[in-house]
Amino acid sequence: MVVQHRVFQGVGASPGIGIGRVHLVDRRRVHYAKTRIQQRQIPAEIERFLAAIQVSERQLEALAQRLQQSIERTAAEAERTRPARRRTDPEGRASIRTDHLSILVAHRLMLRDPMLVDGTIARISNERLCAEWALRMTLREVKSLLDDVADDYFRERRSDVDFVGDRILRNLTGGGAEASAPEGSVVVAHDLSPADTLGLLRSKIAGFVTDVGGKTSHTAILAQALGLPAVVAAGDISDLAGDGDLVSLDGATGEVVLRPGRAVLARFRQVADKRAQFDAELRAELHLPTETRCGQRVALQANIDRGDEVELLLALGCDGVGLLRTEYLFLEEQKTASTAHSAAYRQVVEALAGLPVTIRTFDLGGDKVAVGSGWQREPNPALGLRAVRYCLRERDLFRAQLRGVLEASAHGKTRLLLPMISGVHELREVKVLLEEERAALRAAGIPFDERMAVGAMIELPAAVWIADQLATEVDFFSVGSNDLVQYILAADRDSELVAHLYRPLHPAVLRALQQTARAAQGAGIGLALCGNMASEPLYLPLLLGLGYSELSMPVLAIPRIKRVVRSVSMDECRALAAEALRLSTAPDVERLVDQRMRSLLEPALL
Ligand code: PEP
Ligand code: MG
Repeated sequence: MVVQHRVFQGVGASPGIGIGRVHLVDRRRVHYAKTRIQQRQIPAEIERFLAAIQVSERQLEALAQRLQQSIERTAAEAERTRPARRRTDPEGRASIRTDHLSILVAHRLMLRDPMLVDGTIARISNERLCAEWALRMTLREVKSLLDDVADDYFRERRSDVDFVGDRILRNLTGGGAEASAPEGSVVVAHDLSPADTLGLLRSKIAGFVTDVGGKTSHTAILAQALGLPAVVAAGDISDLAGDGDLVSLDGATGEVVLRPGRAVLARFRQVADKRAQFDAELRAELHLPTETRCGQRVALQANIDRGDEVELLLALGCDGVGLLRTEYLFLEEQKTASTAHSAAYRQVVEALAGLPVTIRTFDLGGDKVAVGSGWQREPNPALGLRAVRYCLRERDLFRAQLRGVLEASAHGKTRLLLPMISGVHELREVKVLLEEERAALRAAGIPFDERMAVGAMIELPAAVWIADQLATEVDFFSVGSNDLVQYILAADRDSELVAHLYRPLHPAVLRALQQTARAAQGAGIGLALCGNMASEPLYLPLLLGLGYSELSMPVLAIPRIKRVVRSVSMDECRALAAEALRLSTAPDVERLVDQRMRSLLEPALL
């Protein structure tokens, strides 16, 4: 039997053609490290276990409530449409839901089962097993007891034990398994967290495709950083693909073909060749100055997540690092000492040999949490304890990082950048800590740059509204457009369900960009933009026209953006920005930008 190929249209998240065998990563399986704890860690470990049970209880309660509401709605509907009842059998559906409800109630009771709870606690205390391991052992014991009962009903309860156990485990581990895959494979998953993606990058895969996700998610950004072809929001591919199926994906257009035939493969390879040719052409121009046709210089800097990207950014001749995302050092290696930070930053600062390196403090939280860290889940992580808010709570970790950045500043041009700033008070709190760390270094005779620039990321609407006030407190702004768009439009950057609302050219975003630029210019401070808007050829002239001439982007985007810069003049850019600012809908702005750019840029750039 010939198995039909199947086409999926997702969203291109990181350009490039990837062809390989499917490797399915099931994010729903829970992995954990089996560790023995020390005697003194026992109380905290028990605490962690009990907290995971509490979270599980709350989750089941919320599920049960939703189900209860749905049962009530069905009953009310049945009451209203009494004659139709026999035909549509709402009672049947309602009774299935009532069964589910009883299962949820049973699961909640199981969470408090003494055999499960006391058994796990006993293993933590007596055998000094970590909570995950102790729980797994206890679950195994409970299941084997059920096995021995000669009653089908009890034997079937084994899967309930698994269900409840997995829920507690997931809440203990912070939700995940570190994914890995065979070299050259294409990972297909329902969803991947940035922490998963980091694991996959180590496996040298050919690309990945996920059912869900957004183009500016951190997972997509990581893929862009390493030139890993990726498509997100591809629907139900993780259900339909089988391990070992051939798959081809185009990370620029979002096209994915499962089990492609020869002709399709040839087409993908042809596209890859053509793009490689164009890339070679762009790279041959890297020695040319980055300036518009009218001679305006533009600084193109790199966003990097890991020190090993430095070699490439130097080869591509970029003007420094506009954004060093430090959280990956922490996520990958859980480094907490200031010496570890200082060494990592110093390596980048020294390699850049005098070019600026903008080190952003931890943007942990949101979707960036370490696998197995037991991070407390929040109902709205994007609005939760993220970035500078988290740092101001975990002060020891934050101080260690600040010290690390200060120490690195003795070795090259270093700038400190603070993410997710919402007000002047936060900046001042950080400055107090920074000053204390400076004083400690002075006292210890450790050198650092006394004039190291400190900047605020403009990512929240609040920061835009008070940009003039923030501008008096910092040396520069760097607009994080990925988050700015998300927060202005209340459209989750990670969710394909609201991707149609996530519109960087929305008039509200344009005004925010304009207001931020004016505030920076008015105060005479630096102005940069480091979100993904900077790497989109279509948006570039508009950004230049709005006053952004320091742009930071994934390293691999630089050659293409350089060609765009060299193709336009500032008059054209300013005229475009002025016209765009007069429009009142995102589609109108998108149309204008698209039309104008098609007349200015060659098709291969778009
Ligand atoms: C941004 O929000 O635009 C940004 C550069 O930061 P991150 O993508 O890491 O949130
Ligand atoms: Mg951000």
